[in-house]
Amino acid sequence: MKLKVTRNILTANEKIAEGNQKIFADAGVFVLNLMSSPGAGKTTLLEETIKRIKDRVKVGVIEGDIAGEDDAIRIDALNVPVVQINTGGACHLDANMISSVLDDLPITALDLLVIENVGNLVCPAEFKLGEQMKVAVLSITEGHDKPLKYPVMFQESGALVISKIDLKPFLDVDVEKIRRDAVSLNPSIRIFEVSCKTGEGLDAWVAWLLTTIS
Ligand code: MG
Ligand code: ZN
Repeated sequence: MKLKVTRNILTANEKIAEGNQKIFADAGVFVLNLMSSPGAGKTTLLEETIKRIKDRVKVGVIEGDIAGEDDAIRIDALNVPVVQINTGGACHLDANMISSVLDDLPITALDLLVIENVGNLVCPAEFKLGEQMKVAVLSITEGHDKPLKYPVMFQESGALVISKIDLKPFLDVDVEKIRRDAVSLNPSIRIFEVSCKTGEGLDAWVAWLLTTIS
C-alpha cells in the first residue's frame, strides 16, 4: 500500500516536471539539478563555478534547504539572481516547489539555471524537477562505499564531481573505487575530481559544463 502511494506521488510530480521542462525549453535555459549529501560542498562548488563562468553565461540559482537562507545569501553576494526555497521539513525539492518560484527569476534572460537540491543522497534523485541534467557531488570525506550504497543518485546523474580532493593525504579513501563503482552503475557518467580550496580540477569541470550547456 505504501509503495502505491509513493508511486502516485512520483507520477503527479512527473506531470508538473514536464510543465517546468517546457517552460525552460521555451525560455532557452539549461537547467541543472545539483545533488549531494549535506556538507559535500554543493554551494562552494557553485560559488567557484559561477565566479569562473558569469562573464560568459547568464546564471541563475534556486537554493533548496529545509530551513534558512545562508546559501542564497552566499550566491546573492556574486550578483546573480537567486531564490531560496525552504521545504519546511521535506528532504528533497519537488517539481511543484520549482514551479512556484519561477516567476521570481528572469528565466528568459538566463542561459543556465542551477537548482541546488536539499542535502540528501536518497530522494532528490527520484524527483524530477524539469531539469535537463542532474549532477552529483560526493566529497571524499564521505567514503568510497557511497556509490554502491546509494546507486540511484549515480545512475541518474550526467556527471559526478568528487570534491575536497585536497584532503586525500589525510584519509583512507579509495578514489579509484568511487570512479569504478560510479561507472559500473552508469557507464556514461562524466567524473571530475576537484578541490575548491586549491582550485585543482575546476578548469576541467567548468570547460565541460560550458560545452554541455551551449
Ligand atoms: Mg548548500
Ligand atoms: Zn526526500
